[in-house]
Formats: sequence, C-alpha cells, structure tokens
Amino acid sequence: MKHTWFEIKVSDILNSKVTDTLSFENKMIPELPTLSKDGVSWEITIQSLDEDSLFVTLDVECVLDETCDVCSETYQRKVKIEWYTAKYVTEMEEWVRDDEDDILFIDIKNWIIDIEELVYHAIQLEEPFVKKCEKCAAKPVEDDDYDQY
Ligand SMILES: [Zn+2]
Repeated sequence: MKHTWFEIKVSDILNSKVTDTLSFENKMIPELPTLSKDGVSWEITIQSLDEDSLFVTLDVECVLDETCDVCSETYQRKVKIEWYTAKYVTEMEEWVRDDEDDILFIDIKNWIIDIEELVYHAIQLEEPFVKKCEKCAAKPVEDDDYDQY
C-alpha cells in the first residue's frame, strides 16, 4: 500500500486562498536508499494562486551516505536546499510555456498533493555530476583518470 503521510489535502487552501506552512522532520523516503538514518527534514509553504493552482516553496535538509567516485570511500554528503519553488496545477496546458519552476499535478480525485515527489525531485537536482569525498574534493583535479567527465 502506498504510504500517505507526505500527502497534503489542499481543497481548503485552494478554496479559501490561504497560505499554509508545514514542517516535517526525520522522514524516510524509500526512493533515496542512501539517505542517512536521520532522514529528510523540510518545511513547505503552500500558497494558493487561484482555484486551480498552488505555489509552493520548500526548504530541505538531509545527509546522504555516498560513495566517492574517485577513491571509493563512503562519505556523507550534506544537502541543504533553500527556497526551492514549484507549482502544483490541475491542468497542464496554460503552464507549459511558462517559466523554470517545477510543475506538478494536484490529484483532483482526492484534492491532495504528493510532497514526497517534490522533495525527491529537489534532492535529485542537487546530485553532483561527480561525487567526491571531502579529501578528494580538496585535491587539485587530475584529468588522467577522469577524462570521461
Ligand atoms: Zn574520495
């Protein structure tokens, strides 16, 4: 069964044009297998733009247990995302050509939004091209072994 604790009911927010802020701490996201045991913490502010769309801002913090691409040691990568913005809409068309904001869908059957998808996406965007532990990151770049990057 799909877990539901990241889903937020938004019918009230859409109908009454209010702003709601919700905080979560130490949440585990199954799609992030390298997440440290403390999980992800985030704060989300949901604001209605009109009856069909929401604007959200998100602050996320977590630590991921990563493997260094250079020395293969495991290391902890801190992720801190501030002011990540996205829109939740009921229909796509009018937003397609819009801006660089992330656009996600409101589940209009149940009037809920899935925050986990948004948090996951925000963290994915922070993923470095090459993962380096602190030691390797401090070393000058040697391009012999890593031409492919
Ligand atoms: Zn390393």
